[in-house]
Amino acid sequence: AAPPARSVLDGLDPQQRAAAEAPGGPLLIVAGPGTGKTRTLTRRIAHLVAEQDVAAAGFLAITFTRRAAEELSERLGDLLGERARDLTVATFHRLGLLLLREQYERAGLSADFGIADTAQQREIAAVVAGSEKEGRRLLDRRDSDEATEEDAAYERRLRELDLVDFTDLVALPVRLLGADPELAEHYRRRWPWISVDEYQDVDERQYTLLRLLTAPDGNLTAIGDPDQAIYGFRGADVGFFLRFTADFPGAATVRLGRNYRSNATIVDAAVHAIAPASLLPGRELRAVGDFSDPPRIGLHTAADEKAEASFVARSIDRLLGGTSWHSLDSGRVTGDGDGGLSFSDFCVLYRTDAQSEAIMRAFNTAGVPYQKRSHDRLLARPGVRMVADELAHHAQGPLVEQVRSAVALLCERHAGDEELCTDLRTAGELVRPLAAECGEDLSELLSALAMGAEVDALDPRADRVALLTLHAAKGLEFPVVFLVGCEDGLLPFRLPGEGRISSGAGEDEERRLFFVGMTRAQQRLYLSRARRRTRRGTASDTAPSPFLDALDAGLTMPVDEESAVRKRPRDRQMRLL
Ligand code: ATP
Ligand code: MG
Repeated sequence: AAPPARSVLDGLDPQQRAAAEAPGGPLLIVAGPGTGKTRTLTRRIAHLVAEQDVAAAGFLAITFTRRAAEELSERLGDLLGERARDLTVATFHRLGLLLLREQYERAGLSADFGIADTAQQREIAAVVAGSEKEGRRLLDRRDSDEATEEDAAYERRLRELDLVDFTDLVALPVRLLGADPELAEHYRRRWPWISVDEYQDVDERQYTLLRLLTAPDGNLTAIGDPDQAIYGFRGADVGFFLRFTADFPGAATVRLGRNYRSNATIVDAAVHAIAPASLLPGRELRAVGDFSDPPRIGLHTAADEKAEASFVARSIDRLLGGTSWHSLDSGRVTGDGDGGLSFSDFCVLYRTDAQSEAIMRAFNTAGVPYQKRSHDRLLARPGVRMVADELAHHAQGPLVEQVRSAVALLCERHAGDEELCTDLRTAGELVRPLAAECGEDLSELLSALAMGAEVDALDPRADRVALLTLHAAKGLEFPVVFLVGCEDGLLPFRLPGEGRISSGAGEDEERRLFFVGMTRAQQRLYLSRARRRTRRGTASDTAPSPFLDALDAGLTMPVDEESAVRKRPRDRQMRLL
């Protein structure tokens, strides 16, 4: 018999298939981590284009980071080939930029307006507000949407300089489309199909833009997990997710309950961890992977952050079969065959960027290659700013080459300042993947740098351990995850010396962050803490994170350096799969 015709929906389970095949109109896909939300969305778009004859140019797919946009484009390219080119895949900020590039005149800008970086913003705000301190206050206010006379003055100054800032990228399109129903209608016709991944983290401005771009009965697909809402601290509001079906009457809802990412131990433990704060109590989430007898979650208590970091480095070495010391220049390491792991299969997650210092030091000593990314803006790094300024003066040539020579030149100019040179070399590493993507278009690269977060520059092809803040880790997955600093005061986070949680969103958001971290792991998860930790120069004793209390003792197992040595990879028990 002839083989059945292949469909882009092959390889989806029945629930995922129902979501991918759902007819037009508002659609909410609400599901836990690792249930294939992103995968289902990809297939839905491919199905509509390849099998339902919907025009690719009518699709707008919005993602949270540029990295996620790239990945989505790549996967759609695999499924749709040439046709994928006509899709618009962008972050909210990139979408805003696209709208402003088309409507610059209405916004009082020239055709080649620029994007102000943090330093420029601060400078302008300080002048307008009278002092640096007041300037910073103005910028904070600007994000919280309580505009005053001065803030207007700030905007005028930006416009005089032919600049927009990061806030403007979404705020100006909202203003333009809000003031002109015909213009809004124009874009609604252009993109009759819109999807938003990670919808639990939209903020009010993004939400308003979305409403302007979609009719109440429009083809809007929102995907997300309220239990992974982790950006409340900067204005995101999970309430928009929770009221989706009220905002879009007649919306269909699809739930996915099978986790394909992680083994059963990790899924069960994560479900316990989130339970006290779950916004979807009683929701289904179970592992379906064929992992018989998955290893327990490793709990490690170290004396201090240095010992914790060395535990991570030694564990990685052990899991690679003790070969990492010798393998630095021999490409991918596959251990001794167990699980076939290499450096890029590992990830270290932490609550605050400062924690990465100890980890990097231990990795440097042990010869473990890494790439470090946070959710901070790329241009917030002085090194990146210097490279960007240098690039603006550079001669023609491939951008990647220009980045290389800009870094070399700056390092030469600042020879002797080791700290700055290290920062410049890191900057070179962060900028290069974006430069490769922007070909020869310098202004595109400069906008990408202005809009991008460090995590946008995470290179999944590099064979290095990923060092990520918990915020930067969303949507990603790794075979082995170390979540370090599981201490009260880091998880949940408090400023050293403060009794209360300082983040506006409070302890629940911190718990969700812990949940996001745990659910990045596919095969093996380690939770570690230091008994004594130095923060802001002061060492003090710590207590374990209260979030650990929710973990069933049957799912965890204490691990220490001794057992790390004793349990060689050949030990069957420690095998990963
Ligand atoms: P998150 O909430 O963390 O963003 P998600 O729900 O978007 O997670 P995906 O990243 O889409 O989940 O999928 C998680 C993993 O499970 C991926 O490796 C994906 O390829 C795999 N996966 C999803 N669905 C299936 C399936 N039906 N069969 C096999 N693998 C699947
Ligand atoms: Mg996802």
